[in-house]
Amino acid sequence: MGLLKTLFLKYKIFIFISLFILVFLIIALLYFEYIKEKKQELESNIYKSHALSMKKNLFSMIEQKKSATVAIALSIAAHNDLPSVIQKKDFSNIGYKKLIEKLKNDTFYKNIWIHIIDPNGVSLYRSWTGKCGDCILSFREDIVNVLKTQKTTSLISVGKFNLSLKAIVPIFKDGKLIGIVEVISHLNSISEELKKLDVDSLIIVDKENTKKIKVPFTNIYIDDYYIANFDAPLELREYVQKRGTDTYLKEGYKVENPYIIVSYTLRDAQDKGIASYLMFKNISEISTTGLEYSIFKLFSLFIFLFMFIVIIIVILLYNANKKQKEYYKNIIDSSTDIMIIKNRKSILFVNKAFFDYFGRYDNMDSFIAQHGCISELFDKDSKYLQKEMNGENWLTYLLKNRGKYFKAKVIFFNKVYYFSIATSLISQKREHYSITFSDITQEENYKQELENLTVTDPLTKIGNRRHYQNKIEEEISKAYRYKSPLSLMIFDIDKFKSVNDIHGHDIGDKVLIEYTSLVESQLRNTDSICRIGGEEFVIITPNIKIEDAYALAQKLRVMIEEHKKIIPITVSFGVSEYISGESVEDIFKRVDKALYTAKNGGRNKVVKA
Ligand code: GH3
Ligand code: MG
Ligand code: MG
Repeated sequence: MGLLKTLFLKYKIFIFISLFILVFLIIALLYFEYIKEKKQELESNIYKSHALSMKKNLFSMIEQKKSATVAIALSIAAHNDLPSVIQKKDFSNIGYKKLIEKLKNDTFYKNIWIHIIDPNGVSLYRSWTGKCGDCILSFREDIVNVLKTQKTTSLISVGKFNLSLKAIVPIFKDGKLIGIVEVISHLNSISEELKKLDVDSLIIVDKENTKKIKVPFTNIYIDDYYIANFDAPLELREYVQKRGTDTYLKEGYKVENPYIIVSYTLRDAQDKGIASYLMFKNISEISTTGLEYSIFKLFSLFIFLFMFIVIIIVILLYNANKKQKEYYKNIIDSSTDIMIIKNRKSILFVNKAFFDYFGRYDNMDSFIAQHGCISELFDKDSKYLQKEMNGENWLTYLLKNRGKYFKAKVIFFNKVYYFSIATSLISQKREHYSITFSDITQEENYKQELENLTVTDPLTKIGNRRHYQNKIEEEISKAYRYKSPLSLMIFDIDKFKSVNDIHGHDIGDKVLIEYTSLVESQLRNTDSICRIGGEEFVIITPNIKIEDAYALAQKLRVMIEEHKKIIPITVSFGVSEYISGESVEDIFKRVDKALYTAKNGGRNKVVKA
């Protein structure tokens, strides 16, 4: 587990990037799958509408051809000569052959047949054969219908020769039906028209109707199906045959790469399907600009959404990072300790507490401009941390001695602060570390006060016996080291017991205070006065030889005697000079002995030893 965690932390960024790429790939894959589906859907919509428009085109072409055929039949029927020709049954001079030729040359009618029938259904004239005089009612239901309804009819039907388009028009004279004109055409011209639209076609007559065709006009078949158009391409015939002709006869459309195949059912007068018009168009001919645009739109949407998500993630991460940083900054700022984050060269961050102490400056830069490093404010008192420690910069020293306890005394605009300092490394790589200054001013002052109390005489506020002991040891070692003179004197109030006895202890105390301060006022800074007994004092005078010490003692003795405040007193002095090498006890004994001599010698005296 530990190893996994270490690996994770070490390659965190790579793991995140890999995950990100993975997620991106999955989304992209899903999305492209979606686009693919969408593309198919759009494609099928395009094909569907294309198929529909092909059907509409075909429908209108057929309708157009029907109308034109009807128009030809009507114009023949309306000809003035026709009734007399029918009456005479003599068509030898009729110009239909010429008309057919003209239509063939000047219009899209390449094949047209004209048929004239009398009101009894007897064929009077056939443009394609000389045969006539037969009654056709037995096999021409459509003609029977027109004789009955006497109405112009247009229809598609399968006859002896072919699948054809017929216009059947009744002929009237003086309001009386005298015959019928039938104009027969077929759909070849439509197939040709379709070709101009890049559509190839097959007109497949169903099996039942195929049987009716005795003299096949095109002579083209696919299995048992008659193909009614001349221009039916061989490859399409083979194509259909290979896949089973039946499957294409159902009305609708199919997309079979490379074709879209649209099937349109041709119906007879009874609306019964008799043939299928199959239109083949190459898919590549169908414009897919709209589709490409839609796909481009979808793709752009994906890119946009992806970018949007990426931006949102980046913003969220940035905010989370910012919030986290703010959170940590708040934690650091809420500390009452001063915290400084540094690298080797400069300060990177200081918390709010820093300015609580050094609040004269708005920011770190102005502090640095004025003071440089904070160590410039360290007091030179050797008990505390110094700017340089053992010849090293304080920070280097602290970093080397991490875990050790250091104290600094900082003086800032005459205010003294004591801090305990802890250093810790934040980042080894970046060499970032933090220095924490915890304020211990109160504790330090209290400690010093306690220390002072233990060496101070509470009544007279001068040093006590312990202080004397420390001081004399210090001065003796100095005198010994520097071969400098050092004198010591002890003085004791004469007959002080009687002062207490007569005036009371309180007065005695006041006397002690008064005369102590009198003596203290006469001493130099380097001198020390300590109370070592009830009314017994020592004065340590460094750098003073015995003669001067004696003179000083005399001066003090006289001053005390003449002071006469509260209660007049006298004191006796023992004075001596330190002899190099002797101990603290030795010199004290000698001075004490001199004092004893002074007392025995009548008091109010100075005796030197
Ligand atoms: P001598 O001249 O021999 O020194 O006589 P003395 O009476 O001063 O000698 P002794 O040592 O017998 O007496 C010291 C007296 O000092 C005893 C005590 O009443 C008084 N004394 C000691 N300490 C204090 C103090 O703190 N306050 C007061 N008021 N008196 C003190
Ligand atoms: Mg005394
Ligand atoms: Mg005494």
